[in-house]
Amino acid sequence: MQFWHGRQADSKNQETPQMSRYEDFYRQSVDAPEAFWAEQARLIDWQAPPTQVLDASQPPFARWFVGGTTNLCHNAVDRHLADRADQPALVFVSTETGTEKTYSFRELHAEVQRTAASLAALGVGKGDRVLIYMPMIPEAAFAMLACARIGAIHCVVFGGFASGSLATRIEDAEPKVVVSADAGSRGGKVIAYKPLLDEAIRLSKHKPSAVMLTDRGLAPMDLVAGRDHLAADLALQHHDAVVPCTWLAATDISYTIYTSGTTGKPKGVQRDVGGYAVALAASMKHIFDGRAGETYFSTSDIGWVVGHSYIVYGPLIAGMATLMYEGLPTQGIDKQPDGGIWWRLVEKYKVTVMFSAPTAVRVLKKQDPALLSKYDLSSLRALFLAGEPLDEPTARWISNGLGVPIIDNYWQTESGWPMITIANGIEAKPSKFGSPGVPMYGYRIKILHEATGEELTGPNEKGVVVVEGPTPPGFMQTVWKDDQRFVDTYWKSVPGKMVYSTFDWGIRDEDGYFYILGRTDDVINVAGHRLGTREIEESISGHANVAEVAVVGVADALKGQVAMAFVVPKDGRALADADAALKLEGEIMKVVADQLGALARPARVRFVSGLPKTRSGKLLRRAIQAVCEQRDPGDLTTMDDPATLQQIKQLVSSA
Ligand code: ATP
Ligand code: MG
Repeated sequence: MQFWHGRQADSKNQETPQMSRYEDFYRQSVDAPEAFWAEQARLIDWQAPPTQVLDASQPPFARWFVGGTTNLCHNAVDRHLADRADQPALVFVSTETGTEKTYSFRELHAEVQRTAASLAALGVGKGDRVLIYMPMIPEAAFAMLACARIGAIHCVVFGGFASGSLATRIEDAEPKVVVSADAGSRGGKVIAYKPLLDEAIRLSKHKPSAVMLTDRGLAPMDLVAGRDHLAADLALQHHDAVVPCTWLAATDISYTIYTSGTTGKPKGVQRDVGGYAVALAASMKHIFDGRAGETYFSTSDIGWVVGHSYIVYGPLIAGMATLMYEGLPTQGIDKQPDGGIWWRLVEKYKVTVMFSAPTAVRVLKKQDPALLSKYDLSSLRALFLAGEPLDEPTARWISNGLGVPIIDNYWQTESGWPMITIANGIEAKPSKFGSPGVPMYGYRIKILHEATGEELTGPNEKGVVVVEGPTPPGFMQTVWKDDQRFVDTYWKSVPGKMVYSTFDWGIRDEDGYFYILGRTDDVINVAGHRLGTREIEESISGHANVAEVAVVGVADALKGQVAMAFVVPKDGRALADADAALKLEGEIMKVVADQLGALARPARVRFVSGLPKTRSGKLLRRAIQAVCEQRDPGDLTTMDDPATLQQIKQLVSSA
């Protein structure tokens, strides 16, 4: 295995004394979890300290910090007023509207209280749900923090989801109030939210009693009398509101959020208050190594779990300023093309920790590499990437360009914080290409044989990645309103053992580093041989003319299944010219046959201009597979660009 990114590679030579530091820390966390987490709990403020660190009496449910009372908003905002009231707390940059604005902790405190008072005036109290359907604007963060402040449960739905998906979430969450805005904007194109929201409420059996709307002046809005309220009017009425934090039980519900829906119907993940606050505070210290007074920049969206944990709560709990960004990575504040905008912001706001996704880096890779050396990036200590596999060429490119450690981290909406990565704050262990790293403290991660449930302990033995309970603080409490679904979906898939399944394949190498090999439903069976679609994809990616690839298994009368590859070529010739396509197809098939054997060779390689992905950038293999087998592709509400699937449909039906 290869070690990478210059700065840390040297530590390989002195690994013996260094290696043990994280291992010790990890051991304590799994051998004596109560003592370990009692210590971590000191990273946050409690109104009353917990009386019992862990209640695991009803597995698989884990209740952390029982008896303790605290508040997420207090820890994110009020707590910092004593030391850093006038330091930046939230920096908002929109390259869509050309806006740049900084809120200090004092200003954030006032904004959150205004919003909290507005929500309370609309009847929202402890335990009530507030659904937030917002673009990436500060008002979205104010609303989340305001809910946390008064003990309301927020349910953020990714802005720009269509009415149908919004309606099912309104029905599931049963919000008393919906917080929204006139519009979002993407690449200069205004997307009116209000008509989408009105239609969603019409479709939903549950009707919220009030809607609070931020008017950005981007799209006209028709207000429904008696139901709709302008946030600005309410804020004016509550301009000087003083709304104390409601002290909540650590085990109360802070929020619900839906998974991305890559493999099927999204699941409503429910999280607590105290465990989440402690988990985030600990991760900011041990994993991200972010320090109070510095700036954190996550390029995600508040609609995803990364946005909850590392745009809003995590950095603020750590006393850092969080940079909230609306726009593409390729447009400047003057709305002109600028592939260096993120690096310009890193320089300007002295960002120390940055968090993004491989999909965003692949977009940047198409920009002029000189943009990476144009700015002073010396403040930056590390770039974290998560959400999907980080391929080696992408990792190398950004690693060389930035000259700081690129840290892959593996986790899920369900976990709320990284499960497998490198804990830089404890020990700068080297990274290895293709591996997110080692299990994080608190996680007993195992690899099990999918059919027998037997633990696989040898190096490079492939199995299902699972977590042994009790799950650590911050991990999902249950599925919203459905404990049974939580138990049945996650804890019963491995025969004979009650373990949490990640539904991902993995291996562990001789040094204990994990490699994620794709999702458990991404396995195909060719003539009795089981093959991972991701391994075939990785092999195809090695061809110089391949920009992106998706491989799916398609039913075949003779072989059971065959592999089909859809490739986005780097140069467009294979898209326009049949001879070029045939030639490239042959080359790609040869690459796979040489590396993985003839069995893995795709039956066909088709060329497309884009691949179907979720709005969070994950490949929708299940939809491609369904289309190839002429089945209904199912729930497509989280898909980004429908034209991509259409193109595949046409290719398949013309074959
Ligand atoms: P659903 O569960 O609804 O199908 P989803 O699994 O895509 O959706 P998320 O919780 O957003 O929803 O994504 C978590 C998944 O993303 C992981 O289970 C894994 O498959 C993938 N993933 C996340 N980070 C990484 C990573 N660093 N390397 C490889 N895969 C990753
Ligand atoms: Mg999932």
